Amino acid sequence: MDSLNELLEDELKDLYSAENQLVKALPRMAKKAASESLQEAFLAHLEETQGQVERLDKIGQLMGIKLTGKKCKAMEGLIEEGKEILEEEGRSAVIDAALIGAAQRVEHYEIAAYGTVKAIAEHLGLDKVVKLLDATLEEEGEADKKLTAISLEEVLPATDSSEEEEEEDEEEEDDGKSRPARTAKRSRV
Ligand code: ZN
Ligand code: FE
Ligand code: FE
Ligand code: FE
Repeated sequence: MDSLNELLEDELKDLYSAENQLVKALPRMAKKAASESLQEAFLAHLEETQGQVERLDKIGQLMGIKLTGKKCKAMEGLIEEGKEILEEEGRSAVIDAALIGAAQRVEHYEIAAYGTVKAIAEHLGLDKVVKLLDATLEEEGEADKKLTAISLEEVLPATDSSEEEEEEDEEEEDDGKSRPARTAKRSRV
């Protein structure tokens, strides 16, 4: 690889693969989310992600290149790791917190990648490409912030026991079950 153009092409292909993998993964994450606002955030970002794929298609057209044929292994790994959460059973708010952790890893990867690609495109003076990349970068940043807000305002507070759950705790304690065992494995409400 000798030219910045070639690197840009490579990075765009990587992102094209990453976004397409996410289009498949986000519905599963939405399905697993118990919090309604988290579910909505995943579905809203799914729609945005489809638009991001279209932006990349546009960039490919502008540059006269095809963006297919590469696999983003990092996104594959992030999604693979996220699958562990999809298979997890337990308290719904704790599972939601784990989903947010997985989703924010994805957003941060995308923010890093789009930041790099945008800088390269800027350096090459590809103004239209920069504009398109910037629109996506903005969405990724907002998605990340929204996840933080849902976590802090809703999901983490929901991990504190509700009255009903405290009653269950007492019953379980009567059964002689210890607290750590209960929190370690608990069926979803
Ligand atoms: Zn290459
Ligand atoms: Fe994206
Ligand atoms: Fe990648
Ligand atoms: Fe994203």
